[in-house]
Amino acid sequence: MNLEHNVSLLPFNTFGIDVNADQFVRFESVSELQMLIAREEIMQNPILVLGGGSNILLTADFKGTVLKNEIKGIESFFEDEEHVLVKVGAGEVWHEFVLHCLDHGWSGVENLALIPGSVGASPMQNIGAYGVEIQQVFHEANAVSLEDGKVHTFSREDCQFGYRESIFKHELKGKMIITHVVFLLRKKPELKTTYGAIQEELNRSGITNPGIRDVAEAVMRIRKSKLPDPAMLGNAGSFFKNPEIDLKDFEVLKKAYPDMVGYELPGFKVKLAAGWMIEKAGWKGVRYGDAGCHEKQALVLVNHGKATGSEIYQLSEEIISSVHKKFGVLLHREVNIY
Ligand code: FAD
Ligand code: NAP
Repeated sequence: MNLEHNVSLLPFNTFGIDVNADQFVRFESVSELQMLIAREEIMQNPILVLGGGSNILLTADFKGTVLKNEIKGIESFFEDEEHVLVKVGAGEVWHEFVLHCLDHGWSGVENLALIPGSVGASPMQNIGAYGVEIQQVFHEANAVSLEDGKVHTFSREDCQFGYRESIFKHELKGKMIITHVVFLLRKKPELKTTYGAIQEELNRSGITNPGIRDVAEAVMRIRKSKLPDPAMLGNAGSFFKNPEIDLKDFEVLKKAYPDMVGYELPGFKVKLAAGWMIEKAGWKGVRYGDAGCHEKQALVLVNHGKATGSEIYQLSEEIISSVHKKFGVLLHREVNIY
């Protein structure tokens, strides 16, 4: 474990923001992490645990220590006729874990193919796409407390999962480092193809009796066609969450904007498509210097080259304020700001 000083974080965040961290160190096991937590020169300053850096916006140099999680390993340790339990190191790349599941015929994460980032960050915001969230396959997670270095186990209930939310994003933010996640996967697939454009894509490819790999490949094709590749254009995926409002408020909005997009939720709530509102407020494709709103998906803010984190943050402020002015709806950022 080599503690490096004054390290550029440019290769470690998908927005491509060029800031430095005072200190930077990688760990590959729980015991290495515990040794780091015991070191005073590390713990006396702020800590940022980093996976793939695909859900962060760095607005300034990080005046503390970045702990880069590189705990690897994918191991199935229990199975019966229907299910398998798989323990995965937090430093595994999420999409590689999905590919591993496809290779073994394990179902449950195929709709989550091609989401960037690490397995360890997946419970953070209960990653979701195409009608599936990880809470549906989550069994438990191990995490090391930054306070005392002890390992804690979190059940699904403990995690308090919600829409792009968990206890790790709120009460325990910056307090626990997830080291392993255990997933409960199915050996007999239950496919979900009705969400978004999956069924349309399967039809287009002439697939009438899909398996998990067909669904994953359809998702990958759709994602590649719509979303900017961070290797080509810096971004952190959806910058804002889709807001939930009361059904009665949605009905009022729908009168003023008949084509407004909303999805009914239990409890007389409606989930609004934030991307639709941002587009209608005129932001799609807008660019201030190198900070921009993506031309195909307005929910995604992008770095066209040398934008700073503050410039992207400022753009997000203007979008929030303009959407609020037009629709009376407050957008919340999904991306973690540092
Ligand atoms: P990082 O960006 O490294 O970290 C994110 C946050 O989690 C930080 O606060 C960090 O401190 C914390 N963290 C990281 N690892 C740990 C750990 N081991 N223990 C405790 N805290 C930790 N998200 C979706 O939900 N659905 C999508 O479909 C989706 N699509 C995306 C598409 C693109 C092109 C991009 C760029 C992003 C997308 N995202 C999506 C967002 C992102 O991929 C996920 O949030 C992912 O889980 C972030 O993982 P990461 O390892 O990169 O996290
Ligand atoms: P899309 O399919 O064009 O849909 C637009 C929005 O409508 C999405 O935000 C989605 O909400 C919602 N939606 C679509 N079908 C729905 C249904 N049947 N029921 C309820 N809500 C529905 O979206 P997209 O931009 O191409 O993204 C596709 C999927 O990938 C979405 O699930 C999206 O969340 C996920 N994604 C997430 C990120 C991220 O960074 N978080 C980035 C890219 C893509 P939801 O977002 O709630 O699903």
